[in-house]
Amino acid sequence: MNTRIYKVTPEALPDILTACRDLLSRGELVAFPTETVYGLGGNGLDQEAARKIYEAKGRPSDNPLILHIGKKEMLYPYVTEVPEKAERLMEAFWPGPLTIILNKAPSVPYTTSGGLDTIAFRFPSHPVANALLKGLEFPVAAPSANLSGRPSTTRGSHVIEDLDGRIAAIIDDGDVPIGVESTIVDLTQDPPVLLRPGFISLEELKKVVGEVLVDPAVQNQNIISHSQVVDHPKAPGMKYRHYAPKAPVTIVSGPEDKVAEAIRNRADASTGILTVDEHVKAYPEGVVLSVGSSKAPETIIHNLFDVLRRFDETGVHKIYAEDLTKEDSTGAVMNRLLKSAGGNFVLWDEL
Ligand code: AMP
Ligand code: MG
Repeated sequence: MNTRIYKVTPEALPDILTACRDLLSRGELVAFPTETVYGLGGNGLDQEAARKIYEAKGRPSDNPLILHIGKKEMLYPYVTEVPEKAERLMEAFWPGPLTIILNKAPSVPYTTSGGLDTIAFRFPSHPVANALLKGLEFPVAAPSANLSGRPSTTRGSHVIEDLDGRIAAIIDDGDVPIGVESTIVDLTQDPPVLLRPGFISLEELKKVVGEVLVDPAVQNQNIISHSQVVDHPKAPGMKYRHYAPKAPVTIVSGPEDKVAEAIRNRADASTGILTVDEHVKAYPEGVVLSVGSSKAPETIIHNLFDVLRRFDETGVHKIYAEDLTKEDSTGAVMNRLLKSAGGNFVLWDEL
C-alpha cells in the first residue's frame, strides 16, 4: 500500500484534515499525533476498520482499542451509563491524557472492545487530533501507532519507520508533547481502579474522586526483584512484552556508584547503557544514551521511547538500564521500562 505522508504546516493543515477525515470515513487507517503518543486511527464503529488496525500493528485481537472523540458529548451514545465519578474525572482532565473505561453500549462492535463488554474512551487535547476528531460523526479507535511489541511512537519519523506501506496515511507533526501513553482508569467498578499509570498520577486522580485502587499487575511492579512482571492485568494490553528494543534489556538497581561500577565492569563497545544526564560521564565505554535530567522527570517521560528506539539503530547486543524509580513521579516510566526489559530487574551485586 502506498502511504500518504502529510507534513503538518499551518497552511496545509485544513486540507490535510479534510483528506484524512475522508479516508477515515471510507474505513481507511490514518496515524495522527496526540499529546501522549501517535495514534493509529480507524472508524471505531466499523468492524472492518478495527480489524485492519489489528492487522497493521500485528496486535493480538484480544487487546482492546481506545475510542477517541473530539467532544465530550460523543461519549454518551456508546456507553450504558456514566457514573458521577466519571463525570468528575472528565471535568478535571478532559481534554487530556486520561482514558476512562465504562460499560459498552451494543452500538460498539466487539472487534473494537477486544471481545469485552467494557469500552475505553479518551478526548485528546492535541490541536491536530482535536481538530481531526471534532469534524467526524464517529469515534476513532486509535491504539498507539507502533508495530505490536515495539516502543510507542513519539515522533512522525517513528511512525513512518513502523507503519509506512501498511496504512493509508500518516500525519507527521514532529515530536509529541508528553511522550507516554494515557493514564487508564476503570470506572465500571467503585472505587475506580488505575489500570495503567500515565502522565496523570494516582495522587491527582485521588484529589478528584477520593479512593482509587491500583490493579495488582501495576502495583507489583514496585516489589519486583529478579522475577517476571506479574501476569493477568485487567488491561489486556499490559500483559504482553512491550516497548522492547531488539537487544535484551536488564534494569540494574542499587546505590548510584555501585550500579555504575557494576555496569562499567560488564560494558564493551557493543553494550547499550540507558542513563540520565548526570551519570553519562560514569560510562567511558559502550553506547551511552541519556533519557534526560534526573532533576526534570518530564524530560525522562518525554524521551524514554525515543531512546529505546535509538538503541536499535546502534546495533548493540545488550542494554543495561539504570533503575529510574527515583526519577519517576507517576510510575509510568518504570512501568514501561520494566515491560521493555520483560521484567528483568536485578540488584547491582546480582549482575
Ligand atoms: P494502546 O492504545 O496501544 O495504548 O492500548 C490500549 C490499552 O488500553 C491497552 O493496554 C488495552 O488493554 C487497554 N484497554 C483498552 N480498552 C480496555 C478495556 N475495555 N478494559 C481494560 N483495558 C482496556
Ligand atoms: Mg500501545
